[in-house]
Amino acid sequence: MKMNKKDIIKLLEDIALYLEIKGENAFRISAYRKAAQGIERDERSLPEIDDFTSIKGIGKGTNDTIRAFIETGASHVLNQLQEDVPEGLLTLLDLPGLGGKRIAKLYQELSITNKHELKRACENGSVEKLAGFGKKTVENILTALEEQGKRPERIPLALALPLAEKIEEYLQTIDEIDEYSRAGSLRRVRETVKDIDYIIATKHRKQVAAKLVEMEDVKSIIAKGETKVSVTVAGKYDVNVDFRMVDEKEFATTLHHFTGSKEHNIAMRQRAKMRGEKINEYGVENETTGECIHFSTEKDFYGHFDLHYIPPEMRETALDLEEFEEEVSYLQREMIKGDLHMHTTWSDGAQSVEEMVQEARRRGYTYIAITDHSKFLQVANGLNETRLRRQREDIQKVNEKYDDIEVLCGVEMDILPDGTLDFSDEFLSEMDLVIAAIHSSFNQSEDDIMKRLNTALENPHVDIIAHPTGRIIGRRDGYAVVMEELIEKAAKTNTALEINANPLRFDLSSKWAAYAQEKGVHVAINTDAHNIESFRYMDLGVRYARRGRINKDTVINTWSFDQLQQFLRRNR
Ligand SMILES: [Zn+2]
Ligand SMILES: [Zn+2]
Repeated sequence: MKMNKKDIIKLLEDIALYLEIKGENAFRISAYRKAAQGIERDERSLPEIDDFTSIKGIGKGTNDTIRAFIETGASHVLNQLQEDVPEGLLTLLDLPGLGGKRIAKLYQELSITNKHELKRACENGSVEKLAGFGKKTVENILTALEEQGKRPERIPLALALPLAEKIEEYLQTIDEIDEYSRAGSLRRVRETVKDIDYIIATKHRKQVAAKLVEMEDVKSIIAKGETKVSVTVAGKYDVNVDFRMVDEKEFATTLHHFTGSKEHNIAMRQRAKMRGEKINEYGVENETTGECIHFSTEKDFYGHFDLHYIPPEMRETALDLEEFEEEVSYLQREMIKGDLHMHTTWSDGAQSVEEMVQEARRRGYTYIAITDHSKFLQVANGLNETRLRRQREDIQKVNEKYDDIEVLCGVEMDILPDGTLDFSDEFLSEMDLVIAAIHSSFNQSEDDIMKRLNTALENPHVDIIAHPTGRIIGRRDGYAVVMEELIEKAAKTNTALEINANPLRFDLSSKWAAYAQEKGVHVAINTDAHNIESFRYMDLGVRYARRGRINKDTVINTWSFDQLQQFLRRNR
């Protein structure tokens, strides 16, 4: 495992949390928390720190703990604590109002070790009697416990994806599988999915079925037949996974069928009918002769109907098939020349400027913008004017080192609750690129929120509005923004709106991005990466944008560096 700073910070915070739950002395707990803060505030990335004791708050003991963790990938201190503290206690952390301190109290005074026991204690009134727990707290806990029992109808794509990746790792190990693919809404990059679907081509269905049900985390088997295996996989939420097994020759048609959307399939069947053909799950049947034909790829399948290939994400929004009789140009990952929103160790990112730049080069980008948080966002170690000027020197050094990439000095500047911006115009004019964002006071009225967004849009230095609605899929809806008004104003002020490619956000939504495009607003597809792994969200962001039929020219980070520079200097 390649470790970064965030892993060390998490280790120290976990140790503090376990100590707190155990009821250890407050001084020791706060020492670990201070050490975590010290590392968070340090601007260097992990490989750049040679001596941890040089960081404020880190003594010899903590240094040893960190060193051992880096060397072995495990921590003896944490392991010991994990043995001492009942596992179920940690699950109480996702209940409202419960932190280490209160959990310690529940554990020590009522011997509660899991959610089940907590529920009972809440119901029989013993929790309410504890000092620091009121009637309201108990009510909130009970409501949350109730809610948690229910599995949501659909789960966010962001939660399904890691599960899918794990499943695919397992599928790779099954020799009897000739080919497999995701299908359904997961393949169409919907914001949420109901279950996960796979199509598998194999000559050995029995063996494959036997192996599928042996997969790790399979909680129950719903069906295990020659054509279909259905299992429930345990995770944060239990998710049903369907595997459909077919012969190789049927694979393309079956994949198309189970990818959907339903509306797209209906349109395809109508097209087939007009030619005297019938599409079934396994092939295309001639209605007169009864002969069934097969295809080796989906492209051939479409070709048979005189259509060009339609990407899965577009099978929901592009229902007019005639359009695809001609070659349709749509957004491709290769068109993206750079990523304009990312964080480094200067604020709350895991890697240094240099490490981010190297990853960007590896991905073939010709430019990127470093956009750390601004001073208002203290929890993210936001940068003030002085630190941003110092960071510029850091960025310039890296920029000079590589002649195949341009690194812009940007900032993700907070729009404050009172409607003002975190920096003066004078200072902003020093920056190459300014992203404005709301990270606070989400509950404000529509008027207040719009006032904040308008201030940012009207500012001549603001180039992009990040994650314009602030939604987190499956968790919160975002603040009260009037989208039509925001988009209109963005058009008038020539400010770009972001499609945040993080699948938890997908913000703008594809629907609003399409509306923005219609109104002549430019869009930036950004990953908002806080570590090098998150660069991969760009593929997802591009595919998501395709759902909204976003064109290449709409997306400012498909532009050449010169064209982008012209845009960034448009108001200067
Ligand atoms: Zn942000
Ligand atoms: Zn950000």
